[in-house]
Amino acid sequence: MYIVMVASECAPVAKVGGLADVVFGLARELELRGHAVEIILPRYDCMRTEHVWGLQVSWTDLWVPWDGGAIRCTVWFGFVHGRKCFFIEPHCDQAYFARGAYYGFWDDPERFAFFAKAALEFMLKSGKRPQVIHTHDWQTALVPVLLYELYAAVGMGEQRVCHTMHNFAHQGITGHHILHATGLHRPEYHGHPDRLGHGISHFTLNFTKGALLYANFVTTVSPTHAWEVRFTDAGCGLGHTLHLHQDKFGGILNGLDYEMWNPHIDPYIPHHFDEEGFDRKAGNTRVLRERLRLNAAERPLMAYVGRLDPQKGLPLIRHALFYALAHDAQFVLLGSGSNHGINEDFWHLKHMLHDSRDCHLEIGYDEELAHLIYAGADLLLIPSLFEPCGLTQMIAMRYGTVPVVRAVGGLKDTVFDWDHSELPREQRNGFVFEHADPAGLESALDRALGLWRHERGLFRQLAVQGMGCDYSWKHPGEHYLRIYDFIAHR
Ligand code: ADP
Repeated sequence: MYIVMVASECAPVAKVGGLADVVFGLARELELRGHAVEIILPRYDCMRTEHVWGLQVSWTDLWVPWDGGAIRCTVWFGFVHGRKCFFIEPHCDQAYFARGAYYGFWDDPERFAFFAKAALEFMLKSGKRPQVIHTHDWQTALVPVLLYELYAAVGMGEQRVCHTMHNFAHQGITGHHILHATGLHRPEYHGHPDRLGHGISHFTLNFTKGALLYANFVTTVSPTHAWEVRFTDAGCGLGHTLHLHQDKFGGILNGLDYEMWNPHIDPYIPHHFDEEGFDRKAGNTRVLRERLRLNAAERPLMAYVGRLDPQKGLPLIRHALFYALAHDAQFVLLGSGSNHGINEDFWHLKHMLHDSRDCHLEIGYDEELAHLIYAGADLLLIPSLFEPCGLTQMIAMRYGTVPVVRAVGGLKDTVFDWDHSELPREQRNGFVFEHADPAGLESALDRALGLWRHERGLFRQLAVQGMGCDYSWKHPGEHYLRIYDFIAHR
């Protein structure tokens, strides 16, 4: 098959969170199975071009119709660790992708509506006719809408779209002006609440709603989350629309790129290990402690790696930190805030704990340190309020670090409690708690720290069992191919 992914992120060249890992990992898996995959991304000024091999101009004058006129774009091509990637660079006063950050601007919906339009225009003009276009999240949700409303009539009538929602909390909400800018026009039609209209308003658009209506198939990133978005408030207002389109909606667990995340060959960690040589993991713990100037004590080391966003259960992360310090454990946090206020709070906390040699807060994004933490920690905490899939628990398990998670979304589909799971003991791989409150969290932390302290052999067994779980792209890759095949031949 010939598949084109259109996305706002791809690891490691443009990565904010799990979306980037999924785009890269799925593309790689599909290629390994013999399919042709290309990825179209914006050319951000802040992207990590050192990860692009052979970057060169592929198309100089791509004129993208926009807002009654047209914007000239340059399209670049390069390999990102073997993946074929095109990067669209618009030349316009708005400098859509030349702002030093990926997201966080008042006109984000406009920036990515432009990107959706430009990606289609590029496929049209360059003669790319994939069987399936795979779009991701709200940033590219207008692709299926524009494809069927505008591009099908001019030569792209055969293309089918699979859209994946990684996070329903962000849907791409904006005003009507986008209809005119993209060439959709007819606000009374497209803006109707049965189509892209947001809520009861005819004047507000919801990009994601467009994808749910127009895509040939819609997925989210775990079976549990597929249920949650339909039947609980996790759908953030889209439960009814999802219900109407349930026949083309499903949940597929994300995979993890087992090449990129492999403790046996990981270039970022000093001591390589695997299930048989599990004891070598301790070398990484030692190096992690040295690097972060932590006490070289015989204590359990708990960590958090991830965005500092309310979704992740920030008060519980804070609670766990103090709990760890009060219970003779150590705590390491690596994360960057989704807004200035959150970053400030964590900087404040860092200063407050400055003299403790049993905890370290690293506020920022650091790929290399993340690898060392996964390899060196004993426990990884993920107390999310909601978690569509979550990758950090899978990475942790791959590195023999026991996850302590809240039973929600993909965490529920991947982590099975050591004491209470219905699975046989040899298939259990972590600690799980139900309620997003300190008592719930402590119920799991107590058990985790207790096992580390009093039954070290069993704790080790649990960690090794986690390493044995297969959360690679093998099964998700098969699932996606079945969906592509289904929509391409319908
Ligand atoms: P989300 O998509 O909600 O951000 P996931 O668990 O799906 O969460 O994916 C998070 C990914 O981003 C993981 O690969 C994790 O290691 C990485 N990550 C998040 N924050 C940081 C950070 N501050 N430094 C390095 N890597 C990070």
